[in-house]
Amino acid sequence: APPSPGPALAEARGKLREVFGFDDFRGVQPQVIERVLDGRSTLAVMPTGAGKSLTYQLPATMLKGTCVVVSPLIALMHDQLRAARANGIAAATLTSADADWRETMDAFRAGQLDLLYVAPERASQPAFRDLLSSAPIALFAIDEAHCVSEWGHDFRPDYRQLRPLMDAFAGVPRLALTATADAHTRADILTQLDIPESGLIVAGFDRSNIRYAIRHRDNPVRQIADLMRTEPGPGIVYAPTRAKVEQLADKLAAATGRPVRPYHAGLDPAVRAGNQAAFVESEDMVIVATIAFGMGIDKPDVRFVAHAGLPKSIEAYYQETGRAGRDGDAAQAVMLWGADDFARARQRIGEVPEDRRTSERTRLDALAGLVETAGCRRAVLLRHFGEDPPERCGNCDNCLEAPGVLDVTELAQKLLSAAYRTGQSFGFGHLQKVLTGAGDDRVIQRGHDRLSVFGIVGNDEARLLQPIARALQARGSLVATEHGGLQLGGDAKAILKGERAVEIVVPPARARSRRRGTGG
Ligand code: ADP
Ligand code: ZN
Repeated sequence: APPSPGPALAEARGKLREVFGFDDFRGVQPQVIERVLDGRSTLAVMPTGAGKSLTYQLPATMLKGTCVVVSPLIALMHDQLRAARANGIAAATLTSADADWRETMDAFRAGQLDLLYVAPERASQPAFRDLLSSAPIALFAIDEAHCVSEWGHDFRPDYRQLRPLMDAFAGVPRLALTATADAHTRADILTQLDIPESGLIVAGFDRSNIRYAIRHRDNPVRQIADLMRTEPGPGIVYAPTRAKVEQLADKLAAATGRPVRPYHAGLDPAVRAGNQAAFVESEDMVIVATIAFGMGIDKPDVRFVAHAGLPKSIEAYYQETGRAGRDGDAAQAVMLWGADDFARARQRIGEVPEDRRTSERTRLDALAGLVETAGCRRAVLLRHFGEDPPERCGNCDNCLEAPGVLDVTELAQKLLSAAYRTGQSFGFGHLQKVLTGAGDDRVIQRGHDRLSVFGIVGNDEARLLQPIARALQARGSLVATEHGGLQLGGDAKAILKGERAVEIVVPPARARSRRRGTGG
């Protein structure tokens, strides 16, 4: 909490108890609420469960006029509506699922509503703008704000209509909220919604009681059964397909003798609900599920989350592993991955529309960076969410046992030089061609075949360039721009000057060079 809360915040604290029945704010809630009460536009990035709704619901009860909340999920909106009304807040929704439009509009115009929830597709309709003009508006809250960005994982064109709508009400502050914005998406949300950079508030993403481990998948049944033997508490195993869910559930039950149940959309609804209820009650059950499982499930004592395959993104990984250890006690997150997971993911990128591929690729590269790092997993995760964590956490596989590593500093210098000398606007493929001396049309046309870095990487070393590029991206020494070019960042200069070493993880069998712990 800030050292000396202003009078507005003191009043907010009163409302917190009186209206919501909570003793104290959590995390960044007071910072966000203070800005909102002050009429300043804000982007709050807070992990799921951190209490985003309160940051507009509470001001809505204090400010004159209505807080207009844009939210993409009608089902979610009605949940929120029920919760708000239960706290005695005057709230309403305007969606295709509502029948009481007229009353809602009358109450809104009369200034009787604290909160009005609308779906984003309303925003593009002229009638809605007219309605807003006839009512007192205190705040625009934009939930799931990453939907406004093509960089986000869930772009929705309707969100682009919010800006012109809100611009028509220039004096009304904006509060954008999201749980899952990486640095790119975040910057884009600020631009798209015209929120000043100083308005960005990011909550701490660290879940220090979760021990992260990421391993090659050689025998998933044996690997997960081993985990289940050392960890007797409840666990969730995520598998990519229904068939794999069923298979794994059977084999894990047979291998360990523990209660194991499947959960996926293909199960009979009664069976599925039964399995879920049994899991929530149980102190030793393991549920094998497709990713849909876990949303809205309140089970604080999940002791492990295992991924039998690569998750969709770092955001997804963070969210799924975040279901472990919500009670604050020690918990484990174990991901098993294979090279084929990446191949399949790359293939899928080829199938998405052209204009989305760069961002999808960036997302996958970030995940690869997490998987391939020899450094601290937590540090990679937290840096992805814009934090500046300590170099080592002491509670992940790499911190606890240093992996086999190969010193590739010299090659990394060559790669960084190539990025620098080509103007920091080309992607990895181009840099690879320049370094290996593959003079295709684009290389020659740009004169890159005349650079000193042209052809300086031999065939035997070329295969290391890709893992090095990922490692450099993971540590922020190379940063992908929104156009897919690679720019120098972070400690790139120190690497070029020979002040910092670069290492990549190698499987033990191939760790023919020296084995050692942390890099220099
Ligand atoms: P998010 O939208 O960030 O995922 P919610 O707004 O749904 O999170 O809040 C998650 C839960 O935390 C809700 O049950 C909410 O009532 C509760 N909560 C929010 N703020 C506080 C607080 N200051 N103290 C206690 N509980 C809180
Ligand atoms: Zn660590």
